[in-house]
Amino acid sequence: MIVANWKCNGSKTMIDAWFKNYIKDSEESNGVFIGIAPPTIYIERVANIAKKKSLQIKTGSQDIDISSGARTGAISIEMILDNNCYFSIIGHSERRELFSENNIEIRQKIIKIMDKTLPILCVGETLEDNKKDFTKDVLREQLEVINNLEFNNKLVIAYEPVWAIGSGLTPDPKDINEIHKFIKDVVQSNTNNSANPSVLYGGSVNSANAASFFNEDYVDGALVGGAALDGSSFAEIVNLFNGIKQ
Ligand code: PEP
Repeated sequence: MIVANWKCNGSKTMIDAWFKNYIKDSEESNGVFIGIAPPTIYIERVANIAKKKSLQIKTGSQDIDISSGARTGAISIEMILDNNCYFSIIGHSERRELFSENNIEIRQKIIKIMDKTLPILCVGETLEDNKKDFTKDVLREQLEVINNLEFNNKLVIAYEPVWAIGSGLTPDPKDINEIHKFIKDVVQSNTNNSANPSVLYGGSVNSANAASFFNEDYVDGALVGGAALDGSSFAEIVNLFNGIKQ
Protein backbone atom coordinates (compact mmCIF):
# COMPACT_ATOMS: atom_id res chain seq x y z
CA MET A 1 0.00 0.00 0.00
CA ILE A 2 1.44 3.35 -1.06
CA VAL A 3 -0.32 6.54 -0.08
CA ALA A 4 0.50 10.10 -1.11
CA ASN A 5 -0.16 12.91 1.35
CA TRP A 6 -0.11 16.12 -0.66
CA LYS A 7 -0.77 18.23 2.44
CA CYS A 8 -1.65 21.87 1.55
CA ASN A 9 0.07 21.69 -1.86
CA GLY A 10 -1.16 21.55 -5.41
CA SER A 11 -3.18 23.39 -8.01
CA LYS A 12 -5.15 22.40 -11.10
CA THR A 13 -2.00 22.86 -13.18
CA MET A 14 0.07 20.76 -10.78
CA ILE A 15 -2.54 17.96 -10.89
CA ASP A 16 -2.51 17.82 -14.69
CA ALA A 17 1.31 17.68 -14.76
CA TRP A 18 1.31 15.09 -11.96
CA PHE A 19 -0.87 12.66 -13.93
CA LYS A 20 1.15 13.18 -17.10
CA ASN A 21 4.34 12.21 -15.26
CA TYR A 22 2.72 9.39 -13.31
CA ILE A 23 1.31 7.78 -16.45
CA LYS A 24 4.68 8.14 -18.21
CA ASP A 25 6.64 6.41 -15.44
CA SER A 26 4.33 3.92 -13.75
CA GLU A 27 4.73 0.27 -14.60
CA GLU A 28 2.11 -2.46 -14.56
CA SER A 29 0.67 -2.71 -11.06
CA ASN A 30 -0.11 -6.00 -9.32
CA GLY A 31 -3.17 -4.75 -7.52
CA VAL A 32 -1.40 -2.87 -4.77
CA PHE A 33 -3.49 -0.18 -3.04
CA ILE A 34 -2.35 3.21 -4.36
CA GLY A 35 -3.88 6.24 -2.68
CA ILE A 36 -3.70 10.00 -2.93
CA ALA A 37 -4.89 12.38 -0.23
CA PRO A 38 -5.07 15.72 -2.05
CA PRO A 39 -6.31 18.93 -0.41
CA THR A 40 -10.07 18.40 0.03
CA ILE A 41 -10.98 20.90 -2.67
CA TYR A 42 -9.14 18.79 -5.26
CA ILE A 43 -10.35 15.31 -4.24
CA GLU A 44 -13.06 15.15 -6.89
CA ARG A 45 -10.74 16.41 -9.62
CA VAL A 46 -8.09 13.81 -8.79
CA ALA A 47 -10.70 11.03 -8.57
CA ASN A 48 -12.19 12.03 -11.93
CA ILE A 49 -8.84 12.10 -13.73
CA ALA A 50 -7.82 8.74 -12.22
CA LYS A 51 -11.13 7.24 -13.38
CA LYS A 52 -10.91 8.76 -16.84
CA LYS A 53 -7.37 7.42 -17.29
CA SER A 54 -8.36 3.99 -15.85
CA LEU A 55 -5.74 4.26 -13.11
CA GLN A 56 -6.08 2.17 -9.97
CA ILE A 57 -5.61 5.21 -7.75
CA LYS A 58 -7.96 5.71 -4.84
CA THR A 59 -8.57 9.12 -3.29
CA GLY A 60 -8.81 9.88 0.41
CA SER A 61 -8.90 12.79 2.83
CA GLN A 62 -6.08 14.20 4.94
CA ASP A 63 -8.39 14.54 7.93
CA ILE A 64 -12.07 14.68 8.87
CA ASP A 65 -13.91 16.69 11.45
CA ILE A 66 -15.45 15.01 14.49
CA SER A 67 -18.91 16.29 13.59
CA SER A 68 -21.00 18.35 11.13
CA GLY A 69 -23.23 21.42 11.24
CA ALA A 70 -22.11 24.72 12.77
CA ARG A 71 -18.37 24.10 12.46
CA THR A 72 -17.05 26.67 9.97
CA GLY A 73 -14.26 25.35 7.79
CA ALA A 74 -14.77 21.70 8.73
CA ILE A 75 -15.29 18.71 6.43
CA SER A 76 -17.51 15.92 7.75
CA ILE A 77 -17.29 12.18 7.20
CA GLU A 78 -20.55 12.29 5.22
CA MET A 79 -18.97 14.77 2.77
CA ILE A 80 -15.87 12.64 2.49
CA LEU A 81 -17.95 9.55 1.68
CA ASP A 82 -19.97 11.58 -0.83
CA ASN A 83 -16.72 12.47 -2.61
CA ASN A 84 -15.08 9.24 -3.72
CA CYS A 85 -12.94 8.76 -0.60
CA TYR A 86 -11.62 5.32 0.25
CA PHE A 87 -9.55 6.32 3.27
CA SER A 88 -8.90 9.10 5.74
CA ILE A 89 -5.61 10.03 7.32
CA ILE A 90 -6.18 10.71 11.02
CA GLY A 91 -3.84 12.18 13.64
CA HIS A 92 -1.03 13.34 11.37
CA SER A 93 1.72 14.97 13.47
CA GLU A 94 1.06 18.30 11.70
CA ARG A 95 -2.56 18.15 12.88
CA ARG A 96 -1.38 17.32 16.39
CA GLU A 97 1.23 20.09 16.41
CA LEU A 98 -0.29 22.93 14.35
CA PHE A 99 -3.97 22.33 15.15
CA SER A 100 -3.53 21.04 18.72
CA GLU A 101 -5.32 17.77 18.05
CA ASN A 102 -5.26 15.44 21.01
CA ASN A 103 -5.90 11.76 21.60
CA ILE A 104 -9.50 12.39 22.65
CA GLU A 105 -10.40 13.98 19.29
CA ILE A 106 -8.35 11.46 17.37
CA ARG A 107 -10.25 8.60 19.02
CA GLN A 108 -13.56 10.33 18.19
CA LYS A 109 -12.51 10.58 14.56
CA ILE A 110 -11.48 6.94 14.41
CA ILE A 111 -14.81 5.88 15.91
CA LYS A 112 -16.66 8.06 13.37
CA ILE A 113 -15.04 6.51 10.35
CA MET A 114 -13.97 3.00 11.28
CA ASP A 115 -17.07 1.28 9.91
CA LYS A 116 -17.40 3.60 6.92
CA THR A 117 -13.98 4.09 5.40
CA LEU A 118 -10.38 3.04 5.93
CA PRO A 119 -8.64 4.90 8.77
CA ILE A 120 -4.90 5.56 8.41
CA LEU A 121 -3.84 6.51 11.92
CA CYS A 122 -0.50 8.33 12.15
CA VAL A 123 1.77 7.86 15.13
CA GLY A 124 5.38 8.83 15.74
CA GLU A 125 7.85 10.17 18.27
CA THR A 126 9.72 13.48 18.33
CA LEU A 127 13.49 13.64 18.09
CA GLU A 128 13.71 14.37 21.79
CA ASP A 129 11.62 11.28 22.64
CA ASN A 130 13.74 9.24 20.28
CA LYS A 131 17.00 10.39 21.83
CA LYS A 132 15.71 9.61 25.31
CA ASP A 133 14.68 6.15 24.12
CA PHE A 134 11.01 6.90 24.79
CA THR A 135 9.80 5.88 21.31
CA LYS A 136 7.82 2.81 22.39
CA ASP A 137 6.24 4.63 25.36
CA VAL A 138 5.11 7.46 23.08
CA LEU A 139 3.71 5.07 20.49
CA ARG A 140 1.92 3.01 23.13
CA GLU A 141 0.24 6.17 24.39
CA GLN A 142 -0.73 7.37 20.90
CA LEU A 143 -2.12 3.93 20.10
CA GLU A 144 -4.42 4.10 23.13
CA VAL A 145 -6.95 5.78 20.81
CA ILE A 146 -7.88 2.39 19.40
CA ASN A 147 -8.10 0.59 22.75
CA ASN A 148 -11.10 -1.70 23.16
CA LEU A 149 -12.49 -0.90 19.71
CA GLU A 150 -13.65 -3.59 17.32
CA PHE A 151 -12.33 -3.21 13.80
CA ASN A 152 -14.45 -5.21 11.40
CA ASN A 153 -12.78 -3.53 8.45
CA LYS A 154 -9.11 -2.92 7.79
CA LEU A 155 -7.06 -0.61 9.99
CA VAL A 156 -3.85 1.04 8.84
CA ILE A 157 -1.24 2.61 11.09
CA ALA A 158 1.40 4.94 9.63
CA TYR A 159 4.58 5.06 11.68
CA GLU A 160 5.90 8.55 11.03
CA PRO A 161 8.71 9.70 13.33
CA VAL A 162 8.17 13.46 13.60
CA TRP A 163 11.89 14.10 13.14
CA ALA A 164 11.91 12.19 9.84
CA ILE A 165 9.05 14.14 8.23
CA GLY A 166 10.35 16.45 5.53
CA SER A 167 13.86 16.41 7.04
CA GLY A 168 15.69 13.99 4.76
CA LEU A 169 16.50 11.93 7.87
CA THR A 170 15.15 8.42 8.37
CA PRO A 171 15.56 5.72 10.99
CA ASP A 172 17.55 2.62 10.12
CA PRO A 173 15.27 0.21 8.19
CA LYS A 174 15.93 -2.50 10.81
CA ASP A 175 14.73 -0.16 13.56
CA ILE A 176 11.62 0.65 11.51
CA ASN A 177 10.96 -3.08 11.16
CA GLU A 178 11.21 -3.59 14.91
CA ILE A 179 8.88 -0.66 15.60
CA HIS A 180 6.34 -1.92 13.05
CA LYS A 181 6.31 -5.32 14.77
CA PHE A 182 5.81 -3.54 18.10
CA ILE A 183 2.89 -1.51 16.67
CA LYS A 184 1.22 -4.64 15.30
CA ASP A 185 1.59 -6.37 18.68
CA VAL A 186 0.18 -3.39 20.62
CA VAL A 187 -2.80 -3.05 18.26
CA GLN A 188 -3.53 -6.76 18.35
CA SER A 189 -3.42 -6.86 22.15
CA ASN A 190 -5.54 -3.77 22.73
CA THR A 191 -8.38 -4.08 20.21
CA ASN A 192 -11.44 -6.17 20.99
CA ASN A 193 -11.10 -8.45 18.02
CA SER A 194 -7.28 -8.55 17.87
CA ALA A 195 -7.10 -6.34 14.79
CA ASN A 196 -4.16 -7.03 12.54
CA PRO A 197 -3.23 -3.64 11.06
CA SER A 198 -1.15 -2.89 8.01
CA VAL A 199 1.72 -0.66 9.06
CA LEU A 200 3.12 1.95 6.66
CA TYR A 201 6.36 3.81 7.15
CA GLY A 202 6.34 7.59 6.54
CA GLY A 203 9.07 10.20 6.81
CA SER A 204 11.37 11.33 3.97
CA VAL A 205 10.59 8.30 1.79
CA ASN A 206 11.85 8.82 -1.75
CA SER A 207 12.73 6.70 -4.77
CA ALA A 208 16.34 6.37 -3.58
CA ASN A 209 15.60 4.96 -0.12
CA ALA A 210 12.16 3.33 -0.51
CA ALA A 211 13.48 -0.14 -1.39
CA SER A 212 15.47 -0.32 1.86
CA PHE A 213 12.20 0.03 3.80
CA PHE A 214 10.12 -2.23 1.55
CA ASN A 215 12.66 -5.04 1.99
CA GLU A 216 11.73 -5.26 5.68
CA ASP A 217 9.12 -7.88 6.62
CA TYR A 218 6.84 -5.72 8.74
CA VAL A 219 6.78 -2.72 6.40
CA ASP A 220 3.49 -2.98 4.51
CA GLY A 221 3.98 0.18 2.47
CA ALA A 222 4.63 3.88 2.75
CA LEU A 223 2.94 7.19 3.40
CA VAL A 224 4.76 9.68 1.22
CA GLY A 225 4.76 13.47 1.52
CA GLY A 226 7.29 15.55 -0.43
CA ALA A 227 8.27 12.85 -2.93
CA ALA A 228 4.60 12.29 -3.79
CA LEU A 229 4.18 15.80 -5.17
CA ASP A 230 5.78 14.76 -8.42
CA GLY A 231 4.02 12.06 -10.47
CA SER A 232 7.31 10.53 -11.67
CA SER A 233 8.89 10.11 -8.26
CA PHE A 234 5.65 8.75 -6.82
CA ALA A 235 5.42 6.29 -9.72
CA GLU A 236 8.99 5.14 -9.05
CA ILE A 237 8.15 4.45 -5.40
CA VAL A 238 5.05 2.48 -6.43
CA ASN A 239 7.12 0.54 -9.00
CA LEU A 240 9.68 -0.37 -6.33
CA PHE A 241 6.95 -1.55 -3.99
CA ASN A 242 5.40 -3.67 -6.75
CA GLY A 243 8.76 -5.27 -7.44
CA ILE A 244 9.49 -6.11 -3.79
CA LYS A 245 6.16 -6.99 -2.19
CA GLN A 246 4.31 -9.34 -4.51
C1 PEP B 1 4.16 13.07 5.87
O1 PEP B 1 4.14 14.18 6.38
O2 PEP B 1 3.18 12.32 5.96
C2 PEP B 1 5.37 12.65 5.17
C3 PEP B 1 5.59 11.38 5.09
O3 PEP B 1 6.14 13.65 4.66
P1 PEP B 1 7.57 13.50 3.92
O4 PEP B 1 7.50 12.28 3.04
O5 PEP B 1 7.72 14.77 3.14
O6 PEP B 1 8.59 13.35 5.00
